[in-house]
Amino acid sequence: CGVFGIYHNPEAASLAYFGLHALQHRGQEGAGIATADGKDIYCFKGRGLLASVFEQGGLAGLKGGNSVGHVRYGTEGGNEIENVQPMVARAQIGSIAVVHNGQIANAGELRCELENNGSIFRGTSDSEIILHMIQRRKGPLLRKIQEACKKLDGAFSFLILTEKNLYAIRDKNGLRPLSIARLNEGYCLSSESCAFEAIGAKFLRDVRPGEVIKLSEKGMESSFYTEETQHRICAMEYIYFSRPDSNVEGLNVHTVRKKCGKIMAMKDRDGLAADIVVGVPDSSLSAAMGYSEASGLPCEMGLIKNRYVGRTFIKPTQRLRDMGVKMKLSVNVSVVAGKRVVLIDDSLVRGTTSRYIVQLLKEASAKEVHLRIASPAIIYPCFYGVDTSTQQELISYRLSSAALREYVGADSLRFLSLEDLQRACGGNCCFACFNGEYVTPLYCHGEKSK
Ligand code: 5GP
Ligand code: SF4
Ligand code: MG
Repeated sequence: CGVFGIYHNPEAASLAYFGLHALQHRGQEGAGIATADGKDIYCFKGRGLLASVFEQGGLAGLKGGNSVGHVRYGTEGGNEIENVQPMVARAQIGSIAVVHNGQIANAGELRCELENNGSIFRGTSDSEIILHMIQRRKGPLLRKIQEACKKLDGAFSFLILTEKNLYAIRDKNGLRPLSIARLNEGYCLSSESCAFEAIGAKFLRDVRPGEVIKLSEKGMESSFYTEETQHRICAMEYIYFSRPDSNVEGLNVHTVRKKCGKIMAMKDRDGLAADIVVGVPDSSLSAAMGYSEASGLPCEMGLIKNRYVGRTFIKPTQRLRDMGVKMKLSVNVSVVAGKRVVLIDDSLVRGTTSRYIVQLLKEASAKEVHLRIASPAIIYPCFYGVDTSTQQELISYRLSSAALREYVGADSLRFLSLEDLQRACGGNCCFACFNGEYVTPLYCHGEKSK
């Protein structure tokens, strides 16, 4: 998911719209914006892409100088409208709106506890749990937020809008990104820095793991809900999720991907005879450029992406996912025919994409296809908000590397090693889907298992 917020700007709603537009790649299942004018909270949201949600003029009713917005990538909770954010609660102390990116690992347990104590849930998403957790505590809101966060395990970057103030919170491992920028007299918060560029905001810094930032009339105040913090940003932010023009924890995403490609080329140096490098658009183009630069092989546009189809992975069923890939990618036959192709993809999850593309290239008479995956084999599921699903669905878990090469139909197959990924993006990341070293306790049927 992507979250975005504006504090203190007369155009809070439209700016949120433009900011979210720059984050659309982070989720296409739903979108929404809530604003506050000091007296009340207004919200408009719906299913689908941002532009289609707001095409009938939903922005008009969003009054006030502060806003939070969300683009949804469904993991926990279905795609019902009840799960689309912002999630708004009307309470005696005033209204609040929450937007959330990530996944609460102990959601099941917390939900049971809350229900046993009388809470009633409208939807099935984690964000609602956060709302209830906050409402149930006593004291000033900042204290309530801090107390609630202590009980949450997992990944969460969230923004809370009250009638007057705006809060930004990042989990103690910093699993999901969140940054803050200056915009005129006010502030701006975003999952990714690319959205700051889009609206002319000036990047200040990343919100720190465990930090709670409060924006009010007094300006920006920082506090921490815990002292046990560490920097464990999701490595997949660099590999796949973020836009190449974003800087995540101080590293430019394009630069990291390019480095991964370069390293892959160095590993191939003695041995791989090929004619061209082709990256799978869009997320693998940076790695393909790096591979090309280091190998001396030309980087060619062998595959074309139809821009008007969303990210395939996000479609919920396998059949739709297969169809999605077909609508999305075409081969540039004149470029690849008769060529030995080094095909670069950023990641291999279920194998759907790679298998289809290798087949496409072969049908277009590519002489050989050497598949290079610019990340390590994914063999463990993610519990922090990336929908790589169950272990059984992970093709690298199910198949040996020889069987996998055969399955995708490539002449050779190689992954980036974990050590090489660490070299490219630094060691301070979560790499759990590659090595099983989860950064929080895990829960099984509501029970803590580690
Ligand atoms: P597969 O087709 O192997 O299941 O998925 C891998 C492909 O899906 C890659 O080309 C990658 O760019 C794309 N992809 C889309 N969404 C995601 C995601 O959430 N995580 C990862 N790792 N890859 C994704
Ligand atoms: Fe990211 Fe993988 Fe960690 Fe999930 S398990 S947060 S996808 S690195
Ligand atoms: Mg891809």
